[in-house]
Amino acid sequence: MSPSVSHSVDHDGVGWIVFDDPTARANVFTPAVHADLRAAITALAAQPVRAVVITSSKERIFIAGADLKWLTKLPDAAAASAASRDGQGSFDQVAGFKVPVVCAIHGACAGGGYELALACHWRVASEARETVIGLPETGIGTIPGWGGTARLPRLVGAKAALEHIVKAALVPAGEAKAAGLVDEVVPTAELKSRAKSAALRLAAEGFPVRPVPPAAEPEYFAKIRQDVTKRTRGREPAPVAAIDVIERTAGQTLAEALAEEARVFGGIMVSETCRNLIHVFFLKEAVKKLTVDAWFPPAAAAAAPAPFRKIGVVGAGVMGSGIAQWCAARGHEVVLRDVKAEFVERGLAVIRGVFDESVARKKMTSEAAAAGLARVKTTTGWEGFAECDLVIEAIVENVAAKQALFRELGAVVRPDCVLASNTSALPIEELSAPVAHPERTIGIHFFNPVSRMPLIELVLSPHTARATAERTLAFAKALGKSPVICRSSPGFLVTRVLFFYLNEACRLWEEGVPTELLDAPLRDWGWPMGPARLIDEVGVDVTDFIFGEMAHYFPDRFRATSVCRRMLEAGLKGRKNGASSGFYSYAGGKETLNPAMAPFAPAAKSTLTGAAIADRLNRVMIDETKRVLDEGVLKSADDADFALLMGTGFPAFRGGLMRYARSIGAC
Ligand code: NAD
Repeated sequence: MSPSVSHSVDHDGVGWIVFDDPTARANVFTPAVHADLRAAITALAAQPVRAVVITSSKERIFIAGADLKWLTKLPDAAAASAASRDGQGSFDQVAGFKVPVVCAIHGACAGGGYELALACHWRVASEARETVIGLPETGIGTIPGWGGTARLPRLVGAKAALEHIVKAALVPAGEAKAAGLVDEVVPTAELKSRAKSAALRLAAEGFPVRPVPPAAEPEYFAKIRQDVTKRTRGREPAPVAAIDVIERTAGQTLAEALAEEARVFGGIMVSETCRNLIHVFFLKEAVKKLTVDAWFPPAAAAAAPAPFRKIGVVGAGVMGSGIAQWCAARGHEVVLRDVKAEFVERGLAVIRGVFDESVARKKMTSEAAAAGLARVKTTTGWEGFAECDLVIEAIVENVAAKQALFRELGAVVRPDCVLASNTSALPIEELSAPVAHPERTIGIHFFNPVSRMPLIELVLSPHTARATAERTLAFAKALGKSPVICRSSPGFLVTRVLFFYLNEACRLWEEGVPTELLDAPLRDWGWPMGPARLIDEVGVDVTDFIFGEMAHYFPDRFRATSVCRRMLEAGLKGRKNGASSGFYSYAGGKETLNPAMAPFAPAAKSTLTGAAIADRLNRVMIDETKRVLDEGVLKSADDADFALLMGTGFPAFRGGLMRYARSIGAC
C-alpha cells in the first residue's frame, strides 16, 4: 500500500513532507502513519536539505488528529501510554530536525495534527474558512497526548494554553494567530509559496528564538480548576487532568513534561467517560453520512435532490418564528403566515430578537443579520406560498386545525411543494389525510428553541415518498441541524420517551417525593436539570397537554398524573412566556421552591432514596425507548441515543441512554 506520507526535495533544497492518505478523505494518525512520517524524516535527514515544509494535499482537512477507532481499541492504560510515547517520539524527531521545519496548514488541523504543527519550528496557516486549528481532546474525554500539554504552554504560556485546551474547540486561523497558536496567516493560494519563503528565511537566519512566556500564578490553576469543575459538575475528568498535568510540569524540562503527559494520557484514555464521549463523537459523525436508504426499497442512484429554496412557515408562534428565523439565517427566502396581523408582528419581533442576539454574541455580522431579516416576508393571507418549495406548519397542536390547514394549503401551493408538520407528537398520516398527494408530506420536528437545539426528527408517514424524504434530509443537513429519521408514530421518539419520564416523575411527586428530592438525584446523575424543573421550563400547560395526547395514543400504558392539571387550574404555568411560578418560583429572577405547591402535596412522604428515584425514572426512559425500537419507529439504538443526546440534554459523558442501559444489563 502506498504510504500516507511522501517526501521530496525541490530545486531550492527545500524538503517537502506531504500527508495524503490515498484511501480516505481525511488524514488521521495511526501507528502506520507515524512510521511513514518517521521514514520521511529519516530519508530527508540523509539529504542536504536547507529547510523542510510539512503540508497536506487534502482539500478540507490538514490532519484530523489521531484515528479514534484505533485509540479506543487500545486494551489498557499501558498500551495507551505507549501509543502516546510513540507519537511523541515521531514529533520529537520533527522538533529535533537538523534544519528548520515549517508547517503549512490548510483545512482542519486538530489534535495530533496540531501537535505535529507544534513540533515544527514555524506555523503558517491559510486564511480559508475550512482552516480551523487546535486541541479539542478534552471534548472527547481525553487530553492531548502527543506533546500538546507540554509544547503549547511553552509556546504561549500555561494560561493561554489552558484557556484553549479546556474549551476543546478548534479556532479559525485569524483567532489562532491572535492566540499565538500559529505564526502567519496567508491567502490560501499563497500557502505553499509563503511557507517555503518562511522556510528559506529560517534556513538563512537560523531557528526562531521565541521569548519565554510568562509563568501562570498558582492561584490561576486553582481558579480554572474550580471553574471547570463547576461547569462539568465534576463529571468530566479530562479538562481537570489537562490542568493538573500543565500545572505539575510547569517548571520541568520538555522531556519530563512529555513523560508525565504520556502517563496521564494512558489512564484517561481507557476511562469509561472517555470511551463514552468518543462514542458520542462517532454518533455525530454518522449523522453527517445519514441517508434515507434504510427506510425505502433499494433505488437506482439518482441525481442530488433538488434543494428547497423558498420556505413557507404557517403559524408565527414560538416554533414558527424560530423556524422562520433559522431558515432565513441560512439563506432561504421565507414567507411567514399567521391569522392576525398582531400575531405576525409578534413573530417578527421574536425573529428580530434572535438576529440581534446572534450579532451581540458575534455569531453573525450586523449586515448578515439585516439581510437575513429582510428575507422574511409576512402575511395573513397566502401571498408568496405559490412559489414555496416547502411549507412547514407550526400552528396549534390540534388534529382538526392541522387537517383543515393542510386542506387549505393543498389549494394554494404547487403540486411539487413538500408539506411538512412540526407537530411534537401527532401522526403525520392523520394530519395529512386531506392532502391530495400524501407522498409529499413529512414531519420536520424542530425543538425549542430552534436557534439552540440541534436535533430535527424527520418523520416519515406510510405515504412519504423517497424523494420527499431525500429532499427534506438534505434540507435539514444544509440547515446545520442534526437529523434523525423516524417512522410516524405518536410522539415519535423524543416526545414519547420524555413525557413517559416526566409523567413518572409527577407520579413520584404525587407519591410524596418533594420537588427538591425529585430533582437532585437526576441532576447528580448528570441531567442538566431535574424533571420538575424541566416541566417548568417546557411549560406546565404544554406538559399537561402532551400527557393528554400520550394517554390518548397509549391508553393501556400511559396513566396520566394529575398534578400538572391541578397546577394549571391554580394558575401555575411554569417558567414559559413570562410565567414565573411552577414547581419552583422564579419571581424577581430568583429560583426557589414554590410554596404555592403546598396545597397539592400529598400528606404521606416517600422513603425512596435518591438513587432509587434516579433509577426508576431512567428505567422508564429505557423501557419506552426499547418499545420504540421494537416497534421499528427508529432503526437503531444508536439513533435513539443520538436523538436523546441532542433533543433532551441526556448527559454525553454517559455515552447514550441505550449504551448506558447495556452497561447496567437493562437491555
Ligand atoms: P404557539 O401557540 O406559540 O403558536 C401557534 C401559532 O399558530 C399561533 O400564533 C396561532 O395564531 C397560529 N395559528 C393557528 N392556526 C393558524 C392558521 N390556520 N394559520 C396560521 N397561523 C395559525 O405554538 P408553538 O409552541 O409554536 O407550537 C406550534 C407547533 O409546534 C405545535 O404543533 C407544537 O406541538 C409544535 N412544537 C412545539 C414545541 C414547543 O416547545 N413549543 C416544540 C416542538 C414542536
